[in-house]
Amino acid sequence: MTTAVAPKVQVSDITSQIVHAMRAMGASPIPRNYNLFYEAYIGTNPELTRELALLGSHATQEELDSLAATFLGTGQSKAVEKAHAELLGQLDALLKLLQQEQSSLHSYNRLLDETATRINSKSHTSSDLLRSAIVLLTQATGETIANGERTVEGVAKKSHEMEQVRRELDEYKRIANTDSLTRLSNRRAFDEKLSALYDDPMRLPLTALVLADIDNFKRINDTWGHPVGDKVLASVAAVIRTNVRKDIFIARTGGEEFALVIEGNTPEEVMAMCERVRRALESRPFRNSRTGIDYGPVTLSLGYATGSQAEDAGDLYAKSDTALYAAKNAGRNRSVLYEDGMRKDYAGKGWLIYKK
Ligand code: GH3
Ligand code: MG
Ligand code: MG
Repeated sequence: MTTAVAPKVQVSDITSQIVHAMRAMGASPIPRNYNLFYEAYIGTNPELTRELALLGSHATQEELDSLAATFLGTGQSKAVEKAHAELLGQLDALLKLLQQEQSSLHSYNRLLDETATRINSKSHTSSDLLRSAIVLLTQATGETIANGERTVEGVAKKSHEMEQVRRELDEYKRIANTDSLTRLSNRRAFDEKLSALYDDPMRLPLTALVLADIDNFKRINDTWGHPVGDKVLASVAAVIRTNVRKDIFIARTGGEEFALVIEGNTPEEVMAMCERVRRALESRPFRNSRTGIDYGPVTLSLGYATGSQAEDAGDLYAKSDTALYAAKNAGRNRSVLYEDGMRKDYAGKGWLIYKK
């Protein structure tokens, strides 16, 4: 029996070589760099591979981003697509293997039928006929068992390979959807989540989008420096994560902004969750344990709207954002539910003014 073999890509080898290449060029281990190096590595676009190599060992993030903007689309990660294609290839090979097994079983059954017919067509049981039938059956049974064993081995091998590819695929997806600083979901994952919310209108009244933005965060960066700002960002993410249910989707959607998608709760319950997070952050000390420097206080403004207050995902985002600005405008460090008539205006030197 011949076994159909799917094109074999050593995904783990590629992964480690890409990581090595990224390190050698001083590129940060962030999803978009990973995608860029992956594309350059597999060589689908030789121009990209050449341009990346030309950047040498001290590529800046700006240069890497500019290459990505030139050569990679904004759609789904090519790496994810590639791993997905690989998985489909493996599935196809497995299917072929099973089909072959099925056809050899068919010929075995046909042989059994033919033998039975020949035995039945004789009025007497000739010993010659019985002997030849037994020989035929023994042979056929032996072949079928051997085929079966080969198939079992083949299926086990393919399943193992598929499992490996599936794990690689999961890892790609995780990297592509995770914010490396806070380990929360990133903007890409958030956009996907948001756009799926309106697929199920029944759930909308109990669905809320909360947008949260750190208050006066620029002050922290300006006073203590960017690295301290990064640490504060990671801590705020941890405070949010530990103060809401595990099933709640949390993303860092931009600089110091977070989004939570809460499903299955009334607006009042959502308000209670927002307030729990806000109070937990407000009362958390931000102090450098080594130097004793106090960075605090760090506070958060939160605004939210419910699925039924908005017409679609874009409208929901806009209304939650308006509620967030209402919270900022009312003095920060508070939670606000969107109300009809709230609106946000752009005035003068870029200040966003909340009106009602
Ligand atoms: P407001 O209360 O109105 O939100 O004031 P703000 O200072 O928080 O808002 P603003 O938008 O003026 O400043 C946000 C700052 O966040 C500016 C930018 O330097 C900083 N920032 C954005 N992304 C990062 C990041 O990844 N790390 C650090 N450390 N700072 C960041
Ligand atoms: Mg802010
Ligand atoms: Mg902001």
